[in-house]
Amino acid sequence: MTDALPEKGVPGEQILAELRELRAGDLPTHGGRLFAYVYDPALDGLDDLARAAHATSAHVNGLDPTAFPSLLAMENALVAAAARLLGGGPATVGSVTSGGTESLILAVKAARDAHPRIRSPRLVIPSSAHAAFAKAAHYLRVGLDVVPVQDLRADPRAMAAAITPDTVLIAASAPSYAHGVVDPIPEIAATAAEHGIRFHVDACFGGWILPYLRRLGADLPHFDLAVPGVTSISVDLHKYAYAPKGVSILLHASEELRRPQYFAHADWPGYTMINPVISSTRSGGPIAAAYATLRSIGDAGYLALAGKTRESVRVLAAAVEATDGVRLYAPAETSVVCLASDGVDLFVLADELAARGWHTQPQMAHAGHPPSIHLTVTAAVHATVESFAPGLAAAVDAARARGPVQLPPLPPLTAEAVTPELIASLAEGLGLGAGDFTQMATVNTILNAAPPALREALLTGFLSLLQRPTHGDVMT
Ligand SMILES: *Cc1c(COP(=O)(O)O)cnc(C)c1O
Repeated sequence: MTDALPEKGVPGEQILAELRELRAGDLPTHGGRLFAYVYDPALDGLDDLARAAHATSAHVNGLDPTAFPSLLAMENALVAAAARLLGGGPATVGSVTSGGTESLILAVKAARDAHPRIRSPRLVIPSSAHAAFAKAAHYLRVGLDVVPVQDLRADPRAMAAAITPDTVLIAASAPSYAHGVVDPIPEIAATAAEHGIRFHVDACFGGWILPYLRRLGADLPHFDLAVPGVTSISVDLHKYAYAPKGVSILLHASEELRRPQYFAHADWPGYTMINPVISSTRSGGPIAAAYATLRSIGDAGYLALAGKTRESVRVLAAAVEATDGVRLYAPAETSVVCLASDGVDLFVLADELAARGWHTQPQMAHAGHPPSIHLTVTAAVHATVESFAPGLAAAVDAARARGPVQLPPLPPLTAEAVTPELIASLAEGLGLGAGDFTQMATVNTILNAAPPALREALLTGFLSLLQRPTHGDVMT
């Protein structure tokens, strides 16, 4: 790695060449063969537009909308668009955040701080809810009541039974990230309303595609602010709105519901700080890029993209169903295809798919669920989808030929026993030292066998090992 602070500045051309070289080692963000992390509409010219829009506002600071009214105007327009798409009414308000996690943390914070007299506030979620809720609970010291799902979906009765006098928020997903299924939002909303408890719909993943899938005739439950009892909803623009990273929207059904989300502090010698979201200084870049993306694609454009996505999901799901050795694990009702093993080692399969240029996301066994492979499907997949079935068949054959991962007997290990030295020797032994992450079956098999606390400790240790300053062979 080159030096980030060279003795003398380096010409721009050279720096951009370095960046391109670095980027060449990443998974492909475009081309419809990476089924996680990235969302690609494959629209000509859109990247250039978003880039230009990002550049116009990159140095603008969202800290103070009176200094930079351009950002306020764009934010209000984005919130209005989201509210229109997601069943908002005249009282709906919202905030632009940096991502789904921030939107969820703020939904939990608003609920917590709406009840200053509840000393030990609690949050009720289905076990399928996104990990960001656990993070919110952890950061905000809110108790977490995790309710088992039934057939992959939140169970409204069990959710109702989990409510206590300390419950400040109930949440569910539309759809869940792992399996892509929509929770029964109207039933849960009715319970929440009955108890006078806030109900957040996490539509971070699917909020910008579900309305279009419904318009295209998909049989999906109502899930948005139009459902009585839904008090807030989140949607990530950097997912199915296809905006560059760094933009999500949190909508509240009313101003009053949003109020405890804000943080204000005047009791210091500097400027009075009023923050609707977690960050204080915020770049206008992602907001301008999202604004440009929405205006460029437009409602009809999103409908067409949803149609391509839906067709791609159908073809992928059919490929899974037609392939011996794997099976669909969840109904492919939204924009996720989730497959499980029907005889083949899934972690070996994931490596074999990757070797053929199909990059999927393995998911570990959890609470009665077997390991699975997750595919986030976006419109770009449409162009390559017909070649998936032969690729999958070949990968399954290769995985069968290799056979399942055979772990050597491992010493018993607990989360507490994980030390930096142990992580370093494990990483070396597993061939991860050189930064090659293409052969992950053994690693995934070990992680899959580990209980969640140990899995967390191992991966935390590993990330911590990766995140070390690069000194050493400094070049100019
Ligand atoms: C992606 C996602 C989140 C978290 O969003 P980030 O933008 O990664 O912070 C939360 N909920 C669901 C359902 C998601 O898919």
